[in-house]
Amino acid sequence: MTAPLIVVSGPSGVGKSTVVAETLRLNPDIWLSVSATTRPPRPGEVEGEDYYFRDSQQFASMRDAGELLEWAHFAGNSYGTPGGPVAEHRAAGHPVLLEIEVQGARQVRQAVPDATLVFLAPPSEATLRERLTGRGTEDPAALERRLLAAQEELQAAGEFDHVLVNADVQQCARALLDYVSLASQP
Ligand code: 5GP
Repeated sequence: MTAPLIVVSGPSGVGKSTVVAETLRLNPDIWLSVSATTRPPRPGEVEGEDYYFRDSQQFASMRDAGELLEWAHFAGNSYGTPGGPVAEHRAAGHPVLLEIEVQGARQVRQAVPDATLVFLAPPSEATLRERLTGRGTEDPAALERRLLAAQEELQAAGEFDHVLVNADVQQCARALLDYVSLASQP
């Protein structure tokens, strides 16, 4: 039996990365997929660890060669999950986590019907705005695009297997570990 595939999705700024990092700390056997993106690196981001940073042409050739399990345009850039490593880690018995936006999660649902889809929701829209603004990583136009996308993404929660409200990182990380265990059972 291949190891589970868990997709963590939800609006930008909801705290997906923090929850995922805590989940990996609690269970280092889980492998976090590294996406390709056309977004330029933020200060401190490392090629091959945070993302594979690619230009639009390189991204398009990966996509056209069928190398991406899913991909989407998000807030002016493209993002996609290389499929090969996901399949390899699952086959080797390591649960795989994807941290992606909602359109990508929908594609995974189609491509991998046994994947577990988890939606991380903010305690309120106001918290989300505060987190996105306070993070200071986006210029005002990019921030507006992300807030618009967030409003759309929040509508999608009902399509997911589980919805977690991110009021407490520990609780969310432990819930994700429970979903990994549940999906590991034959
Ligand atoms: P950021 O630019 O803040 O790193 O990511 C923007 C959004 O793209 C986040 O919601 C993040 O989860 C999502 N994202 C990251 N990698 C992928 C991917 O491979 N596919 C899709 N569909 N979304 C991704």
